[in-house]
Amino acid sequence: MATVEQHPPETDESVAQEGDIGAPVEAAGIPVENPATGEIIGTVPDLDAAAVAEMAARGRAAQPQWEAYGFDGRARVLLRMQKWVMDNAERIVKTICEETGKTYEDAELAEIGYAGNAFGFWAKEAANYLADERVKTSQKLVLGKKIVLRYRPLGLIGVIGPWNYPLTNSFGDCIPALAAGNAVIMKPSEVTPLTSLLLGEGLHECGLPENVLQIATGRGQTGAALIEHVDMIMFTGSTKTGKKVAEEAAKRLIPVSLELGGKDPMLVLSDADLERAANFAVYFSMQNAGQTCISIERAYVEEPVYDEFVAKVSEKVRALRVGKPEGPGSVEVGAITFPPQLDIIKDHVADAVQRGARVLVGGSEVPGPGRFFEPTVLVDVDHTMKCMTDETFGPTLPIMKVHDVEEAVRLANDTPYGLGASVFTRDAARGEQIARRIEVGAANVNDALINYTVLELPMGGAKASGLGSRHGAGGIRKYCSQQAIVVTDKLAMKKEVFMYPYKSRTSRMLAGFFKFMYGRGKRD
Ligand code: NDP
Repeated sequence: MATVEQHPPETDESVAQEGDIGAPVEAAGIPVENPATGEIIGTVPDLDAAAVAEMAARGRAAQPQWEAYGFDGRARVLLRMQKWVMDNAERIVKTICEETGKTYEDAELAEIGYAGNAFGFWAKEAANYLADERVKTSQKLVLGKKIVLRYRPLGLIGVIGPWNYPLTNSFGDCIPALAAGNAVIMKPSEVTPLTSLLLGEGLHECGLPENVLQIATGRGQTGAALIEHVDMIMFTGSTKTGKKVAEEAAKRLIPVSLELGGKDPMLVLSDADLERAANFAVYFSMQNAGQTCISIERAYVEEPVYDEFVAKVSEKVRALRVGKPEGPGSVEVGAITFPPQLDIIKDHVADAVQRGARVLVGGSEVPGPGRFFEPTVLVDVDHTMKCMTDETFGPTLPIMKVHDVEEAVRLANDTPYGLGASVFTRDAARGEQIARRIEVGAANVNDALINYTVLELPMGGAKASGLGSRHGAGGIRKYCSQQAIVVTDKLAMKKEVFMYPYKSRTSRMLAGFFKFMYGRGKRD
């Protein structure tokens, strides 16, 4: 049985008990707010270091049994969960929408769609990525021996997630960690813990053994405590916190994988299909109210098509409806999930205007209840402005005119970040060459963000956007240690030729062998 941990704090019995999601606000717990209405929709425990230590002990005790399930046994649980997600899709969407304030469609497409795919993918592919590898070698000294590379689950994994996609890039990282045979403790953002608790319940129902997955609700300190106890930490969040996490992991010499912030550029060349480029610019800057790590955060447009592109984008952004989502088809742009994020968005727009930018559409906070910001288009922007250099993480699109593609590439790379980028041109081959010059972990040509859905591809950031990646072979092997195994069987002699006592005849023979093997090349 899976354990969905909701520990009541020792000091206050009135805070949410196990399975008590939706309890009224209590002083000692963490209230969960619906950002679209301002209502408090539940309270979760704020776990302290001692509670995390107890969870870690329980997770360690449970892990060997889960590992012993083997790939097939674990796949059965994950495939049941795939079905559970589909059977409970409306309930999950409701929970996500309520705690993030995002639209129905943003939850459906990017969270349910992702989870459905991911549970099936890791159920099937874990065995392929982690199966023992028989290794061939050019090393003649080991001729006839069995040489194997084995992936062994690390044991107890800590997953710390952000608030913008409580399922996809928060809970989603638990899936490959579990598929590899680890126990996991998930620390969701204090702002959006309910989705993880619900998914934990789901895995429980699907037969995950007790304590193999535990949800540690709490604030930053709970995340910090987790790092003290786990064998590896998978962190998604801001670059600032990511650096702290890496420092703490270094003190314990445990591996860390970091998915951090971004400032993704879009390059629009003068031969681009402008209608497609404008639709992509609007959708991928405003989707999830811009609170997506790989959203389009800035656009560079070649001079000849700049005016037309800006006109198209402005018209489309003006048509977007912003406000409280009321189910499917109600609004395009939902709430700003995290209160301080609204201040950052307002600050970036004010800073741009103060330095000479013009607001073509939007530009202001929408009066409450709830937290909203108008979909915003900024022009006359440059790299002296925060909106072009710092992560805004809001429904804004600054568009900058560039003389040519060389200037666009230079500006695209003028950032500490390196998560994603997109290039729009009718010459796809040239687009690919340009994409290869942008210092990012993922680049799309005439597309954006789609790489994230290809689970065979690594998704990770270059530069200050991260270390390591999720998805692909690396996305599950990082939850394992590698073990090299050499087995000498039938050819086992009493003694190898290089062993004691050293004899000049044997040494000369070995020298001749090395010369024969490695000395026949030329020095030119
Ligand atoms: P934060 O860095 O503020 O927080 C991330 C998580 O870390 C939260 O659960 C937080 O807890 C926890 N935390 C805070 N302090 C510590 C600490 N000292 N030790 C351990 N854990 C700690 O990020 P946000 O939640 O604000 O997320 C937004 C950021 O995430 C953006 O920069 C975005 O670009 C990035 N992101 C990157 C993605 C990627 O794939 N590269 C994907 C999605 C988002 P609490 O919330 O309770 O404070």
